Amino acid sequence: MPVGVHTSIAGGLALSVDRAVELACDSMQIFGRNPRIWGFSPVAPSEVSLFRKRREEAGIWPVVIHTAYLINLSSPDETNYRKSVDLFKNELTTAEELGADYLVTHLGSPHELGAGFAVRRIEEALAGVTAEGLGKKTTILFENTAGGGSSFGSDLAGLGALVERAAELGLSCGVCFDTCHAFAAGYPMRTYGEIKGLVKTIDGDVGLDKVKVIHLNDSKGDLGSNLDRHEHIGEGRIGLEAFRLFLSHPEIRDVPMILETPKKTPQDDPRNLRVVRGILEKSKKKK
Ligand SMILES: [Zn+2]
Ligand SMILES: [Zn+2]
Repeated sequence: MPVGVHTSIAGGLALSVDRAVELACDSMQIFGRNPRIWGFSPVAPSEVSLFRKRREEAGIWPVVIHTAYLINLSSPDETNYRKSVDLFKNELTTAEELGADYLVTHLGSPHELGAGFAVRRIEEALAGVTAEGLGKKTTILFENTAGGGSSFGSDLAGLGALVERAAELGLSCGVCFDTCHAFAAGYPMRTYGEIKGLVKTIDGDVGLDKVKVIHLNDSKGDLGSNLDRHEHIGEGRIGLEAFRLFLSHPEIRDVPMILETPKKTPQDDPRNLRVVRGILEKSKKKK
């Protein structure tokens, strides 16, 4: 049951591993680069080897890279779409160089053109990835989003269909399930029955074997609010009991977990990790 957090790469990529080690993380997630700018420069070979070495020494698994927020693989605007696909491929190249296990991406927004258009755009992007021989060392994971507006990817069945389509293109992809986003998108998960139903839905729509990473976040917004605002575990609208039920589920507790909870003080990450580990320890004893 690997548990870890999203750590900062400030000062150099390898420092993100040191930060994860300090928090006794088993798994970790980073941005491969500044997630808010388009500009891309390859990572220096010395930085790549330092990252790989530190990661190896730390024994961290899995290493997850999250793509830039700017990327819109569903974009109806040709220029924006091309830029997005280029940056996505560059990020995947970096992820493979660094030896990352997974590259997590959101699927963007087709604006008024709808889900069918989004799927065609994403398929074209994925075809480009396979054509360049990418996506074999690092597995691409589609993350479910909080929904709202014209964004694509809040519906688990849509993600599942895309995973299948990718397989037809010769690309083995998976899903990253974010608890806050699912709750905000309208998936109930507060009672035992609801958690049972949720896991069944995930299995039916995506397949549990395709869920490679879980983003554990409580939610500031209510069920169906479409609000992508993360909260500390147990302190949001999902609540501690729901996390206890979810993390104790036999199909869920062994999936690698990453916390993307707020970091306002240095105590925040240790506290959230303690809460999650406490639940997992108890559920293990009961097993
Ligand atoms: Zn997430
Ligand atoms: Zn989010």
